[in-house]
Amino acid sequence: MNELHVYCPHCRSTVKVQPELAGQLASCPLCFGQFRVPITEGGATPSSPATPAGFAGFAGNRQNFEKTVGSARVACGLLAIFGGLVGLHKFALGRMGAGLIMLLATSLSCFLLSPVLWIIGIIEGVLYLLCTDEEFYQRYIVEEQSWF
Ligand SMILES: [Zn+2]
Repeated sequence: MNELHVYCPHCRSTVKVQPELAGQLASCPLCFGQFRVPITEGGATPSSPATPAGFAGFAGNRQNFEKTVGSARVACGLLAIFGGLVGLHKFALGRMGAGLIMLLATSLSCFLLSPVLWIIGIIEGVLYLLCTDEEFYQRYIVEEQSWF
């Protein structure tokens, strides 16, 4: 007979218990709290929290996600604000086409267009800095959005 998977009310983790313990008191191996094992499997098990689509690649590793995407988001935001007129943030995000357009527009126009491109860069940089890590990941890494 299979082990029962039950939900510990003390530390909110799913623990395995022997089926003979159903209906009796068991102690959680993680927090050592005592709880009554439900007779039927899943009786006390909550549905696992839904994982947003954008987190699929990070397998629920929230800390890693924040570290990786959060730092990329801030770096790209700063690159856009300070180097946006030559498309630095586009190259950083792997948008080579969009980066080249900005770089060529600035250099071929002998910097006549640079104020326009700089404004675009600043707007994009502010958008990167204001959106959440999830939004940034979804928009610029999953959907590969090139502009804004
Ligand atoms: Zn526990």
